[in-house]
Amino acid sequence: MDYQLVRKRGLKRLTLRMTSKGPRVFAPKWVPKRVIDAFVESHKDQLPESPRETQERYDQYKELAREILKPIIFVWSERMGVEYNSVRIKNTRSRWGSCSSKGNLNFSFKVAFLPDHLRDYIVVHELAHLTYLDHSPRFWALVARYIPEYQACKRELDLYAKNQKSIEYPEL
Ligand SMILES: [Zn+2]
Repeated sequence: MDYQLVRKRGLKRLTLRMTSKGPRVFAPKWVPKRVIDAFVESHKDQLPESPRETQERYDQYKELAREILKPIIFVWSERMGVEYNSVRIKNTRSRWGSCSSKGNLNFSFKVAFLPDHLRDYIVVHELAHLTYLDHSPRFWALVARYIPEYQACKRELDLYAKNQKSIEYPEL
């Protein structure tokens, strides 16, 4: 494995760390290169993946999420008789989705990998905002027309948001 070697006088032991530029070893000046190589070899499994690998994996999931969600959004919009402007798939931390007054829909890529009934609820929720941009009783009545068990869906989604349930991502 390639790594960057940083030698410093004051250091007392070897450390291997993942940095934004890849793996980096901090070593005291007196430790021979072959010892450092052996150290890296025996510790590389404990190293987290690099930020670049994380980014690549995220990009792949985002692409897959787009393929999964686009037809679902289209089918529900036909069923509900609403028209949207654009769909964007993002990595939103706090929200599953959002809808702007201009009809632009945003969804977290995670939505694609939720169980079907929760995925449908989130899509219907955002599409219902094309009619009512609020959470008024008439908004919820519209959601309930398509997802009668929407309250149970909301409760279940809270479990995912609180990490009491975890999303099962497919193998890439
Ligand atoms: Zn809402």
